[in-house]
Amino acid sequence: MENNQGKYLSDAIRERMQAEGKRYWAGDNISDYVSDAARPRLIDEATEAFELVLDRLLIDRETDPNSKGTARRLAKMYFNEIMAGRYDAGPDCTAFPNDSEDRYEGMLVVRSEIRSMCSHHHQPVVGVAYIGILAAHKLIGLSKYTRIAQWCARRGTLQEELCNDIAREIMRATESKDVGVYVQATHGCCENRGIMAHSSLTQTTVLKGAFLTDPAVKKEFIDNIKLQQDYAPR
Ligand SMILES: [Zn+2]
Repeated sequence: MENNQGKYLSDAIRERMQAEGKRYWAGDNISDYVSDAARPRLIDEATEAFELVLDRLLIDRETDPNSKGTARRLAKMYFNEIMAGRYDAGPDCTAFPNDSEDRYEGMLVVRSEIRSMCSHHHQPVVGVAYIGILAAHKLIGLSKYTRIAQWCARRGTLQEELCNDIAREIMRATESKDVGVYVQATHGCCENRGIMAHSSLTQTTVLKGAFLTDPAVKKEFIDNIKLQQDYAPR
């Protein structure tokens, strides 16, 4: 690609990230480096690259009507949908004070539907995240838990990393040290290829603060997940 130096915006952005020591793995958010104005050009560049992939796969994108716009559809899908959590800034999570005399001190458990993609095979990961939190001095709107989980999920991830990412971002948004995240998901890379195992259910749990150290808190979290699952089984 040496003769293309300076031609691609994606090359310039990558060079900037490298120069500044910014990690840009499939699961990393790089929104500070990708402006809204840059995105159409990046989609054009990815379209060109996907056209090459289709050519190398010997798929006729000239006369096959189903494959004609596929390269652009793929490019748009990666940037705007299945990997949008890499390029979009995090959700705006306005926090409300929770410091009055009758402040809420209990546990909150939110069930969030998530769709992600494994970074090894770019296959879908579909499931739910149960986010548990002991209320601190700030509260965020209920929908924000799911927005944060989906923002973390819309990247190329491993489920273990995703679970960690959701916990970290929830802690950041709420300033609570006591957070538990349980993710249950099926993996396209186990269902559509490899061992071809249907309903390849995988569970991961990350426990922080009291969720890790206080058995009663941990039990309440797990019990609440069970109650949620009885109410809305996956
Ligand atoms: Zn995979």
